[in-house]
Amino acid sequence: MSSPPSTPTESRALERLRQTFGHPAFRGQQADIVRHVADGGDALVLMPTGGGKSLCYQLPALLRPGLAIVVSPLIALMQDQVAALQQLGVRAGALHSGLTAREAAQTRRDALSGGLELLYVAPERLLAEGFIDMIASARLALFAIDEAHCVSQWGHDFRPEYLQLSVLAERFPEVPRIALTATADPQTRAEIIERLQLREARVFVSSFDRPNIRYTIEDRGDGRTQLLDFIRGSHDGESGIVYCLSRRKVEETAEWLAERGLTALPYHAGLDAATRSRHQRIFQEQDGVIIVATIAFGMGIDKPDVRFVAHLDLPKSVEGYYQETGRAGRDGEPADAWMVYGMADVVQQRRLIDESEADEGWKRIAAAKLNALLGIAESASCRRVPLLAYFGESSLPCGRCDNCLTPPLTWDATEAARMALSAVYRTRQRFGVVHLIDVLRGRTGERMIRWQHDKLSVFGIGAAHDEPTWRAVFRQLVALGLVEVDHAAHGALKLTEAARPVLRGEQILRLRRPREPVRATPRRRVAKSGAPSGSAPDRSRAQPPMDSGQSALLARLKAWRLEQSRAQRVPPYIVLNDATLEALTLARPDSLAALSQIHGIGERRLETYGAALLAVLADFSASHR
Ligand code: ADP
Ligand code: ZN
Repeated sequence: MSSPPSTPTESRALERLRQTFGHPAFRGQQADIVRHVADGGDALVLMPTGGGKSLCYQLPALLRPGLAIVVSPLIALMQDQVAALQQLGVRAGALHSGLTAREAAQTRRDALSGGLELLYVAPERLLAEGFIDMIASARLALFAIDEAHCVSQWGHDFRPEYLQLSVLAERFPEVPRIALTATADPQTRAEIIERLQLREARVFVSSFDRPNIRYTIEDRGDGRTQLLDFIRGSHDGESGIVYCLSRRKVEETAEWLAERGLTALPYHAGLDAATRSRHQRIFQEQDGVIIVATIAFGMGIDKPDVRFVAHLDLPKSVEGYYQETGRAGRDGEPADAWMVYGMADVVQQRRLIDESEADEGWKRIAAAKLNALLGIAESASCRRVPLLAYFGESSLPCGRCDNCLTPPLTWDATEAARMALSAVYRTRQRFGVVHLIDVLRGRTGERMIRWQHDKLSVFGIGAAHDEPTWRAVFRQLVALGLVEVDHAAHGALKLTEAARPVLRGEQILRLRRPREPVRATPRRRVAKSGAPSGSAPDRSRAQPPMDSGQSALLARLKAWRLEQSRAQRVPPYIVLNDATLEALTLARPDSLAALSQIHGIGERRLETYGAALLAVLADFSASHR
C-alpha cells in the first residue's frame, strides 16, 4: 500500500512479501488481512477469482511460528499450490488420497517434526481417525479453509465434510482461522459464518470487479467463424476455454477448430474419466491449448494464464456467466470474456426452464436469473455496471467493455416493433421468425402464396429495414418478453400481455441496432487501468504493444521456461508466470541486482534461475545486435 507500514507486523509482512514472493506491494485488502491474521485474528475473506487469496493465509503462515494447516477440497489445486510454494523456497506439503502410504507417512513425519511450514489437507483426511489428535501435539500457526463456500448445501460445490469443520473451532479455540471463497452472495456468506462458527471473525469483502477482463457480447451470425476470427485476431497461440451447451456441440466445435490448425480438445461428462483427465492435464501444463467444454469443466481449474473464455451458447444465469468468465486472467494480465448471442439462445434457455421437472417456484427463480443475464446481453451501455450491480456493487461505466469501447447505436423502434407485433398477430401467431421477416419485407414465394400472406396488410410494410435489423428487433422483443416462442408449435411466435401497450402506441421502445462484429485488437493494446485498489503497479499500468524484437525475446524466454518446466515436471506458470516473463522482456535486466527488481523474482528464484535467465537475455542481445 502507498502509506508506510505502521505496525511491526506490517513491516515484517511487507519484507517477506518482497523477499519470498517477489511482489513489490500488496493488492487490495491483502495488507489488512495479513496483519489481522498474523496477529492472531479470525477472518472471512471474500475475493474474486484471481484476487490473490492464497497470499492472505500463506504469508501469515510464514510470519507465525508453527505449522499452518490449509484445508482444500481438490487434489490438483493442492499440488499446484505446494509446487508453487516450493519454487519460492517455502517448506510445504500435502496430504490427500493421491499419495502412497509411504509418502503420506513421510509428510506426516515432516509436519510433526517442524520440517513443514504449511500442510495442505483434504477435508476427509483432516477428519479421518486420529488426525486431529496428531496435530494437537504440534504447534499450530493457523487454519486456512479454502473454497469455504463448499459448506453450502445449496451450492453446486457442496462437500459434506465441510460441515464438520466446526470441530476446529471446538478443539483449537486459540488457533486463528481464516476462511476464503470467491462466491459472493450473502446467503452463502451467512452459511459459512454459521457452519464454520466464525462468529468473532472479521469479514473482508473485496470488490468483485475483474478489471483485467474485457467483456464482449457479439450478435450471433455463424458463431463458429466468429469464434475463429476472435481467436486468430486476439489470442493466436494462447490458452482459452470455449463453453458450449451440449456434448455434441463440444465435440463438433473442438474438431472444427482442430481442422483449422488450432490445438483444441473436448471436455464433457460423456467422455471417460481417463480422457477427461488427460485433456485437463494437457490444458493445464502446455501453452496455447484450447479446451472446448460443457460446464462440466470448471472447478479445480486453477490455470492462471487462461487468456480468453468464449461462450458459444448463453449460460443460464449471471452467476454462471460470471463464474465461467472468471476463469480468464487469474494472473491479472489482460483477458477476454467473449460471447456470441442470438435469439436461439433465449429460446433454448427458456425452453430448458419450461420443460424442466422442477416446481413453479424454482422455474420463477430460474426465469428471473435468465432475464437478468439477458438484460446484460441486450444492454446498450456498459456491461460491467449491471454485472457488478447483480452482486450488490455500484460502479461507473468501465471504459473497457465492448459497449464502452464501441457504443452500440440505439433507435426509436416503436414503429418497427408495432409492425413486427402486427405481423405476428395477422399471421395468427402460427409462424416463426424467418417467415415473419419474409412477410414484413414482402418476399413472395411458394409459402407466401399458399398461406395468402401476400394479401395481408402487413405484407411488405417493413421493406425499409434489412433482414439483420428485423432479426435484432425480434430477438429483443423475445428477450423483453413481448413475444414468446411456442416450442410445441415449431417455434411459432405468440404475443404476450406485455405487447399490448406497444401495439396500442402507449409505450416507446428504444432498441439496439445490430452491429458488425467488433474487430479484434491484440490483447496487449488493452489498457490495464483501474485495478481494484490501484495499489499494485503491475496491474494498473497501460502497456504499449510489443515490437518484433520484444516478441522474439518473449518467445525465447517461453521456450526456456518450457525446458525448465519439463525438467522439473511442473506446469510452466509454476516456474515463472507470464507477467514476469513480460516484465523481463521489457526491462532486460543485465545483473542479478536488476533481476531481483522484477516482479515475481524473489530470493529463491533469483538463486535458482538468476544466472540462467541472465544468460538467456545476454545471448539474445548478442544475437540481435
Ligand atoms: P485466487 O486464489 O484469489 O484466485 P491467487 O492467490 O491464485 O488468486 O492469486 C492470483 C495471482 O495473483 C497469482 O498469480 C499471484 O501470484 C498474484 N498475486 C497475488 N498477490 C499479488 C501481489 N500482491 N502482487 C502481485 N501479484 C500478486
Ligand atoms: Zn463498460
